[in-house]
Amino acid sequence: MGLLSEGTPLSWEETKAYADHVRKHGIQQFLAQYHKLASRQKDILYWGDEVEYQLVKFDHKKKKTFVSLRGTEVLSRLREKGLEKPDTEASTSWHVEYAEYMVEGTPGAPYGGLIAHFNVVEANMALRYHFMFVEASIALRHYLNHIDAIASFRYLVNLVEANTALRRREIMAELEKDEVPLSQTVYPLLGVGEFTSPPAKPDPVNSVSRSLFFPDEAISQNHVRFKTLTRNIRHRRKEKVAINIPIFKDVNTPSPFVEDFSALGDDGSSAAAALPDHIYMDAMGFGMGNSCLQVTFQACNLSEARTLYDQLAGMCPIMLALSASSPIFRGYLSDIDTRWPVIAASVDDRTREERGLEPLKENKYRINKSRYDSIDSYISPLGTCYNDIDLTIDEELCKTLIDGGVEVLLARHIAHLFIRDPVSLFSERLDQDDDNDTDHFENIQSTNWQTMRFKPPPPKSNIGWRVEFRPMEAQFTDFENAAFTVFIVLLTRVILSYKLNLLIPISKVDENMKTAFKRDAVLNDKFYFRKDVVTDATPPECVQQCGSAACNKALSNQYELMTMNEIFQGKDEFPGLVPLINLYLQSIEVDVDTRCTITQYLKLISLRASGELETSAHWMRNFVMNHKLYRHDSVVPEGTAYDLLTRVAEISSGKISDPCHLFPHIMRSARHIPEALSNAEAYLEKKSRKTHSGSKLE
Ligand code: ADP
Ligand code: MG
Ligand code: MG
Ligand code: MG
Ligand code: MG
Ligand code: MG
Repeated sequence: MGLLSEGTPLSWEETKAYADHVRKHGIQQFLAQYHKLASRQKDILYWGDEVEYQLVKFDHKKKKTFVSLRGTEVLSRLREKGLEKPDTEASTSWHVEYAEYMVEGTPGAPYGGLIAHFNVVEANMALRYHFMFVEASIALRHYLNHIDAIASFRYLVNLVEANTALRRREIMAELEKDEVPLSQTVYPLLGVGEFTSPPAKPDPVNSVSRSLFFPDEAISQNHVRFKTLTRNIRHRRKEKVAINIPIFKDVNTPSPFVEDFSALGDDGSSAAAALPDHIYMDAMGFGMGNSCLQVTFQACNLSEARTLYDQLAGMCPIMLALSASSPIFRGYLSDIDTRWPVIAASVDDRTREERGLEPLKENKYRINKSRYDSIDSYISPLGTCYNDIDLTIDEELCKTLIDGGVEVLLARHIAHLFIRDPVSLFSERLDQDDDNDTDHFENIQSTNWQTMRFKPPPPKSNIGWRVEFRPMEAQFTDFENAAFTVFIVLLTRVILSYKLNLLIPISKVDENMKTAFKRDAVLNDKFYFRKDVVTDATPPECVQQCGSAACNKALSNQYELMTMNEIFQGKDEFPGLVPLINLYLQSIEVDVDTRCTITQYLKLISLRASGELETSAHWMRNFVMNHKLYRHDSVVPEGTAYDLLTRVAEISSGKISDPCHLFPHIMRSARHIPEALSNAEAYLEKKSRKTHSGSKLE
């Protein structure tokens, strides 16, 4: 979870005094790197996923579950073992996460090294408007036949699932018999009674969060940053965070639904902050203690990174809705299916002034979103016309960036991130060498937790310009996590190769975000999507008269509301994302084995989009609603959660051979996958043998 500097954490008052210092030097640090790296070319596609796991402990006798507070211990053992192996795509890498019951796993090294990627982009320049035609496809194929790097593409695709499976096995090896690593998004009983093992009591008077429900012990003990962030966010906001999520109103749910917190030690602030008919939560842990699935890509240069950032931005709400797996919060069925609004509110450090509840006196800006939310601006030239959200920026820093040679859209993006204060700072790291350090830049950058992240190359590394896709919810199985990851990777290839344009006004992306939170959004709702993704030209009148009525009209003709199925399978002139990916796969002549794996992944995505397969959220909600202990009052009983998580554990570890509740279609055809996986594993072994013997890899 972002930057981890060592040292003595400063209080909020101390941090605040250095806020301008951090911002000023952060911008200098960005500029120094920018000057060194802006013209860096021909980096190749590297990419990697991050899966966050939660350690869950089962008491089978009492039919109870707990989150297991052993993350620090398990992480240090995983890392120790990792030291014995070389860092490759065949190995794993382990990272600390916000909660003490979490660990994050990534491949030991990013996947990739595909020269082919760069060539594909070049080859496709010519295909700009013609990709539908057979000739173009033949031309591309002809070109690609000469590129042997394509061969390794198959291993990479199959590797993803093999590597995620390996990660799960590695954690399991460190757990006790009654513990399981779950790649679930939200632990359903988070903050309910004694929910941790060992037990820990919330302390509303002295804890860093002041939460009635979430004890400090459940925050990672690995690094002081996490508690510091929690405390400083609360101090900056001048009150506890307040998360209010609409409750799912079942037949026996009290109306209005209002909770009494006095027995938990509420001093009245929670009662005042909690809204009727809402599930109320009051700690950073309720959001940052959730898990997600993220994918980072390296672009071949700065300009491609900006393009990818923009083109993927619109996919954030779509993929959030499709990966929805959060129907339960603090032991209640909610009326939403995703974690997003919870995590956004869980780190909302804005004061009342900044939120627009009081006139501005102490603070500089009205800020319309939490530091955890969807992006507010596009950063590639094509995005100019679609930037219709009023961007709050630090004008002075923006000028510094522009004077320093940074292109306007990128400067404005950074200046927007830099309206935030640092919320964790270490006394040993105040004075830095702006030419070679980037801690101050990363401090602000890594506490802007947005749907997309634009990642500049770290200093003194051979890493290029990267873009991170951050909205997706964690899925129960390695198969699903691999499917979502590979889908997004393939989509980036399609976008770049065919020069697609998916842009819609960014305010419409925000509207889609709100739609994506909703219960069963995939089934019931429509999302704004672009009709013609092939023609990349923005209307000419737009360039002249941005914001004019003509311009707005031209833009509004470019998109319409589509169902999830239409977005993935096509509608009218829009071919659909899955057919586009299939066209791409045909043109690069993927081998049968890889094709088989990808087909399974695309099938999962397609069936989810059409509603034939349930989202995890829908499946969990149904499980609860049909459980014998559930009393139709929105409360998820302990025994229900135990049975639910038992089932999830069986599914995710592959113990259930026919989990027909969840994946009837997929499991039937998934028989082909073991073969693909064993091939990938054979490749891994060959590769790791080669690495051990020190020879260079392809
Ligand atoms: P963060 O937590 O800041 O998002 P991580 O270090 O956890 O970043 O890495 C995110 C992902 O990026 C991992 O899967 C990692 O393998 C991958 N990655 C590392 N280096 C590169 C690179 N040069 N290009 C693309 N992805 C990379
Ligand atoms: Mg993480
Ligand atoms: Mg990470
Ligand atoms: Mg290692
Ligand atoms: Mg996280
Ligand atoms: Mg990440």
